[in-house]
Amino acid sequence: MCGVFGAYSGKDYVAEEIYLGLSALQHRGQESAGVAWINGDRRINVIKGMGLVHDALNQSRLAEVRARTAIGHVRYSTAGGSHEQNAQPICANYAQGPVAIAHNGNLTNFLELREALENRGAIFQSTSDTEAILQLLAHQPRRRPLEALRRALCEVRGAFSLVVLMEEGLVAARDPWGFRPLSLGRRGENYYVASESCAFNLLGASFVRDIEPGEVLLINERGLQSYRMPTEVEHGRLCSFEYVYLARPDSVIGGRSVYKARQEMGRRLARGGSGEKFFLSSAPASEADFVASMPDSGTTAALGYAEESRLPYEAAVVRNRYVGRTFIQPTQRVRELGVRIKLNPCPELFRDRSAILVDDSIVRGTTAGLVVSMIRECGTKAIHLRISSPPVRYPCFYGIDTPSKGDLAAASHSVEEIAGSIGADSLCYLSCQDMIESIGIPGDGLCTACFDGKYMKEPDRAESRDACERIFG
Ligand code: SF4
Repeated sequence: MCGVFGAYSGKDYVAEEIYLGLSALQHRGQESAGVAWINGDRRINVIKGMGLVHDALNQSRLAEVRARTAIGHVRYSTAGGSHEQNAQPICANYAQGPVAIAHNGNLTNFLELREALENRGAIFQSTSDTEAILQLLAHQPRRRPLEALRRALCEVRGAFSLVVLMEEGLVAARDPWGFRPLSLGRRGENYYVASESCAFNLLGASFVRDIEPGEVLLINERGLQSYRMPTEVEHGRLCSFEYVYLARPDSVIGGRSVYKARQEMGRRLARGGSGEKFFLSSAPASEADFVASMPDSGTTAALGYAEESRLPYEAAVVRNRYVGRTFIQPTQRVRELGVRIKLNPCPELFRDRSAILVDDSIVRGTTAGLVVSMIRECGTKAIHLRISSPPVRYPCFYGIDTPSKGDLAAASHSVEEIAGSIGADSLCYLSCQDMIESIGIPGDGLCTACFDGKYMKEPDRAESRDACERIFG
């Protein structure tokens, strides 16, 4: 998962706004951050570094940059390792001028494209799949950058939400399936493109619309020019997990408030629904004293649950706000340590009481197991775990770090086994249908592959090699 941000202005310098926009998108990536702009001698300038935005980037220096168009990126690696060489934006000064790309998503035909490009003499500087887009573009030296980019994007498969900086202007592009969100915002004559609309609020900009799946949007002194990619897709695949966990609740994606979607997931969970469930103890959840959440991503669903069940909500698990999300830490050891550092139950609230604990998802089960055991140490009577999404049984190939089936608790364990290993008195998941209806977008517009294994049709290797020939031909 990554965050991208771009800004175009006819009159203001925007590099510091990129810094602010990236800060609002920090939840989408904490490994590295970068900002790129074009300076007066037609060269790309870039500042990149490892860590959080305020560690990786020098805000004072960016405030002095005299650029009216710029892009930025926060990264959590899902293709290519966590190295500075893979930090984005990825930049080049090639035959047709300077270009920089910031990418959210994973290209599913990257390895085939890379092999075909290397056979034609391309030298890759990183292991990031984003570089394949740059190489496809740069290997068309007689075409203007925008045209070369549009041709390149027709040949890549999988998930890409991009902001691209070139002399022709700021370009926003989204894959024809629309896996990852990408929004357009505006303040006066300034335009902004962001992975999530929450980034606009900080800048006093208004949300205008989503960049459409399959759209390439050029923003420059002539205004907005929209182009369509010709790629035909079987149906849209906006990531349902964005609504469950990834996006900030103050974002609007696909015309649907993330907050409201999560709240509705909690309400439906409280009604019982048709999701998978297992009850270990005789203490019924209906006799619980209160609803608590796994902060922060489970909180909105827990509020919906509490409202529907008419139980009080208690902020009974406290989160240390100065430690990052466990889900996006690179190793299992750090993940396990991170839970204890980050989350702590209030003993006074759990002692001799029975609680409903709402979480957004169970991926590995590590966090839930440790928190439930910490709650048990408080002397609780019963803990009923409620999950506001279906079991995650399949890995994601479109830009989320659920690497292999072996790491997914629900891939090889029954709901009963998961409840037992976590130590909950009962465990209930939301059904896929309830999740889809909570989001409010028809199922054929969403990707639910990590829940139901229904992946998009992949191109074969020969098709990807042919893609390179079409571009070069
Ligand atoms: S597989 Fe899951 S996480 Fe990946 S894009 Fe689809 S719904 Fe989102």
